[in-house]
Amino acid sequence: MAKNYNPYDNMLSVLENAAQRLDLQRKDYEMIKYPERELKVSIPVKMDDGEVQVFDGYRIQHSSSRGPCKGGIRYHPEVDNDEVKALAFAMTLKCAVVDLPYGGAKGAVKVDPAKLSKGELERLTRRFTAMILPIIGPEKDIPAPDVNTNAEVMGWIMDTYSMLKGYSVPGVVTGKSLEIGGSLGRPEATGRGVSITVSEALKYLKMGDAPQKIAVQGMGNVGSNTAKLLSQMGHKIVAVSDATGGFYKESGLNIEAILVYQREHNGTMEGYREDGAARITNEELLTCACDVLTPCAMENQLTEKVAPNVKARLIVEGANGPTTVEADKIFLQRNIPVIPDILANSGGVVVSYFEWVQNIQNLTWDEEQVNNMLSKIMVRSFNQVVDIAQEKQAPFRIAAYMLAVSKLVKAKKIRGVFP
Ligand code: GLU
Repeated sequence: MAKNYNPYDNMLSVLENAAQRLDLQRKDYEMIKYPERELKVSIPVKMDDGEVQVFDGYRIQHSSSRGPCKGGIRYHPEVDNDEVKALAFAMTLKCAVVDLPYGGAKGAVKVDPAKLSKGELERLTRRFTAMILPIIGPEKDIPAPDVNTNAEVMGWIMDTYSMLKGYSVPGVVTGKSLEIGGSLGRPEATGRGVSITVSEALKYLKMGDAPQKIAVQGMGNVGSNTAKLLSQMGHKIVAVSDATGGFYKESGLNIEAILVYQREHNGTMEGYREDGAARITNEELLTCACDVLTPCAMENQLTEKVAPNVKARLIVEGANGPTTVEADKIFLQRNIPVIPDILANSGGVVVSYFEWVQNIQNLTWDEEQVNNMLSKIMVRSFNQVVDIAQEKQAPFRIAAYMLAVSKLVKAKKIRGVFP
């Protein structure tokens, strides 16, 4: 990650822009600029060789104005406080855009999970859970999966929390396995939301009914489900990548074969081969010949260096924060619409909300019901954002911020400042 890039400053600059267009006074949105609570913990883990290693962990609660805090936990060797702060802020905005009764939070552990054994990863997760236990809970703050965490990690969090409470608390975390209170449709939910957003954007922008050439950066949970669902809709996935690099094939890659390969090779595409598919780097993926680009990996990918060379006619952000403020300006000048993360990738937290609702009521919903409700929320939110964009002549990101910030400011005003 570039040294001078600060994801939190990136978001504050978008906030200022949205607040000005909403004619807000500084006192109306001053509180939004700061997270309510930041917890930093040092997590000791007994490693397999008998040594103890200490890892940095964070849980940052940006806002609880509209409901309990909500947001994932990521494991990544390069996370820091500012990144978690920005991601927590993004969760507050995301939940407001899609109108979930939640605020926003994010957690992280600075670790490369690929370097840990399964046992080490479990001990790290359980100790981290115990250390953030005073501030999480179904009515306070509900974690979920994010980069490098999954249903198994959520299961350890749920079990640790439940053991320490003395009774089973499935609603403390979402993205769990079905057997312990997970929801049907949750694993695919973020990718499903991205693919619905791509379809809505193609319709809105009148980009034609013909199958589009789509490039997907990142083949983790979000990217792989996005690629799968968009190819099932008939589009051509011309490029995909993961941390080991990517592939380009103008006639469309065999996504089913790639997914099978990933399943059999510990999630990686390294070593995959397909006739007619050329090896490309991640940067080449971002600038490849395609109609739609969906960055579904990490933040700070579409920078001012990359943006002038992007060939896509539409960008839909599956990842959180993949585009810098400078790159956004370039896309605006180049007339390339960007559907922002807080709208496009909100499908995950929407179905997390459904999971939590089922948990706290001891209900189970069928998959059709989950997918239909998700689709309804994604389409409704997309239309609300494009209406604002049209009315205020604002880029989609600013319009989405305007929608979220106005809801947040209203909630704060109604609640007032305690005491
Ligand atoms: N980590 C996901 C996100 O960034 C999901 C969060 C959640 O379900 O709480 O939106």
